[in-house]
Amino acid sequence: MDDRSFEKVRGRLLGVSRRDFMKFCTAMAASMGLPLSMAPRIANAVTSAKRAPVIWLSGQGCTGCTESLLRPSHPTLEHLILDLISLDYNETLNVGAGHQAEAAMNKSIEENHGKFILVVEGAIPLKDGGVYCQVAGRPFVDTVKETAAKAAAIVAIGSCASWGGIPAAEPNPTGATGLPEVLKGSTVVTIPGCPPNAYNFLSTVIHFLTFNKLPALDDKGRPKFAYGRLIHANCERRPHFDNGRFALKFGDEGHRLGYCLYKLGCKGPMTYANCPSVLFCDVGSGAWPVGTGHPCFGCTEEGVGFTIPLHTQADVSHFTPAAAHPPIVEDQGSAVTPGAAALLAGVAGAAIGAGAVAAKKLGEIESDKEQS
Ligand code: SF4
Repeated sequence: MDDRSFEKVRGRLLGVSRRDFMKFCTAMAASMGLPLSMAPRIANAVTSAKRAPVIWLSGQGCTGCTESLLRPSHPTLEHLILDLISLDYNETLNVGAGHQAEAAMNKSIEENHGKFILVVEGAIPLKDGGVYCQVAGRPFVDTVKETAAKAAAIVAIGSCASWGGIPAAEPNPTGATGLPEVLKGSTVVTIPGCPPNAYNFLSTVIHFLTFNKLPALDDKGRPKFAYGRLIHANCERRPHFDNGRFALKFGDEGHRLGYCLYKLGCKGPMTYANCPSVLFCDVGSGAWPVGTGHPCFGCTEEGVGFTIPLHTQADVSHFTPAAAHPPIVEDQGSAVTPGAAALLAGVAGAAIGAGAVAAKKLGEIESDKEQS
């Protein structure tokens, strides 16, 4: 990226220094498990003059996915997202409404045929011809199928769009279904979570723009860089699990000391996601459910979140060793944080915090293999 390009993007990013911007690109490369030498290519993709058009359709959801996209407190993330993409249609954020908004969407779809990214938020009801979710007088399922046929890439954001989520919970009166089921035969990237992590969406879009292809996906359509490891493998409370120290009741001594939440129903041993390393809202170490003392609900895992009751103890089938945390000693009251683990490992800080550092360590281990 030459200086002129950088100045252009810096203006858009509201005063982000070149150094911080390159740190961000390096952290993005690391979080995707790419070699750090890819950072300049990512920087070029992010600063490209042409923003990727995005049509964001909302079905049976609470708009929490859109909210999570806009709520990180890191000063650049929402600007990076909105500078990277041209959000041509999003019912929550549209300024226009009614026919005006529909016309804008149709115009963007026709002008960007085969080039835009379709993002679907919320589940899609199929029962009774899809009448339980209609937008602009049409069953949502019809709009989704028609739009997907013209898209360059398709993303299901959040657990509802990925497999049905809360609307599909028993007894599922509307026949709520996830996007991969509706678009069988098409490649659908799923970014589950309730809410999903904005970094995982951003990283997926950056990967697509940088390499003109989607990142490596698992058998549920989830990017492997984000959903390749069990939460239990990276959790900062894992040393307590390994040493048999558990909170038995909310507010008891073990809970106050930061012990493992397994006996309170934590689904970390059954759930694949990078929550412990990427965290939420950029407010520092511990900013994720388990970090605040709440058991993982398994929201990124089909068949776990919204399916297995919170109080039911998880099956522990994979005894993967803790990946990012050194063991604790007997007399410590709380587990070592991801940031401390990174420091112990002698890893430098990165623009998006200790979470990115942990992701970098994991990324280096997983290396290019998964991305090829
Ligand atoms: Fe962390 Fe939950 Fe695993 Fe305990 S059971 S180590 S709280 S993920």
